[in-house]
Amino acid sequence: MASTDASTGSNTGLSTRRDQAVHAAVEQGLVGQAAPVAGLLDVTGIRASAASLRAAFDAVTAPGTEVLHAFAVKATPLVPVLRLLHEAGIGAEVASPGELALARAAGVPPTRTVLDSPAKTGAELREALALGIAVNADNPQELARIDALVASAPTRSPIGVRVNPQIGAGSIGALSTATATSKFGVALRDEGARDWVVQAYLDRPWLTRLHTHSGSQGVPLELMAQGVRAAYELAEEINRAAGRQQIDTLDIGGGLPVNFASDEETPDYATYAGLLAATVPGLFDGRYGLVTEFGRSLLAKHGTILALVEYAKESGGRPIAVTHAGVQVATRTVYAPASWPLRIAAYDAKGRPKAGPDVAQDVAGPACFSGDLLAENHALPLLEAGDYAAALDTGAYYFAQHYSYNSLVRPGVYGFTAGADGVGARFATVRAPQTVEEIVAESGGDRRSALLDL
Ligand SMILES: *Cc1c(COP(=O)(O)O)cnc(C)c1O
Repeated sequence: MASTDASTGSNTGLSTRRDQAVHAAVEQGLVGQAAPVAGLLDVTGIRASAASLRAAFDAVTAPGTEVLHAFAVKATPLVPVLRLLHEAGIGAEVASPGELALARAAGVPPTRTVLDSPAKTGAELREALALGIAVNADNPQELARIDALVASAPTRSPIGVRVNPQIGAGSIGALSTATATSKFGVALRDEGARDWVVQAYLDRPWLTRLHTHSGSQGVPLELMAQGVRAAYELAEEINRAAGRQQIDTLDIGGGLPVNFASDEETPDYATYAGLLAATVPGLFDGRYGLVTEFGRSLLAKHGTILALVEYAKESGGRPIAVTHAGVQVATRTVYAPASWPLRIAAYDAKGRPKAGPDVAQDVAGPACFSGDLLAENHALPLLEAGDYAAALDTGAYYFAQHYSYNSLVRPGVYGFTAGADGVGARFATVRAPQTVEEIVAESGGDRRSALLDL
């Protein structure tokens, strides 16, 4: 963010580092005929986003306020990424046994881990409470399970309840968490729900947190801030009724939207923190600790999918670049292109930014269905066989979350730092490319005759 040029909105640091990394990845053979698609992660950019998140909240909280920024692991479930964030002062928000295992493998301690999920099993809850991981209960039935566990064994876990302030939807229905009928949390405006929540806290002195996550891609910041204010007002009401600061920490979730239209990182964390401080000043006066759970906004801008153009053809008069990146690495974009458009950058066979007039073309993936398009009728320099297409802003919810359509291998993921002199890049393998042998093995390859003897 420091390198954003306010006059043009361009973020030269980010695009320069990306161009250097693409060139170096091609030169060093990380992508090419042997590995026609790879994911690249900009370590410098990830560190900068972590630092700007921390600075944004430091700037608005009273001195001494405890703030835990927990990265939503589902956005980029890769152990070295979680480790990098941990070293940068960011914890982990997990929502499944797999995500918890990833956070633990990365060395994120229980005190910096938060468990949220709408379907926690009894075993998951028992493990979390034994480890001392913070838990947010989603609903009354889950709270009853926690009651039994808390009664049977002491726990250091801070425990809260997730509420849905029902503030309304953003522009992407499937991602809007705070609609009237959302599946998440206790719906605060439903009849009797608010009273139930207040009484639930009065009955349980060990309930010390309150959780809401009402933002997401497509949700305006003002709506997010209203959701946080609703949670804060409920906490104040509960604490008044309890006659003490029973709720000592508010978990305000994540959900900061990301700009997928240019390299500009907007809205930034400082803008959101400033809006929160203006909308909910009492949240920052030192009486409450804070937990945040940002995912997409920490990683999205720092990932690039780089794919070889295998063939360039024409159909019905439209040029089509057939690449190796499609639904397996950009699932949301392929199935819901209107909600999740991606920018595509063109590079030549040496990995240099491609020059030339913009030509409207389709950028297609390798999967066997006609809708497998990264971009349709997209204007960019004409891609030719042997060139590379790069899908930008794909560091969260894209290549880290492979979809095994057509048994396409999971691509390798490489972190990079760009050379300070404007040339070259160093790479570290975050996830090795999957092999075809591994696909056979995980597809029942060792039980070939399993169905013959039934
Ligand atoms: C997905 C999720 C997040 C992260 O959301 P982003 O939009 O990636 O910031 C945080 N908290 C909860 C409970 C979530 O489900």
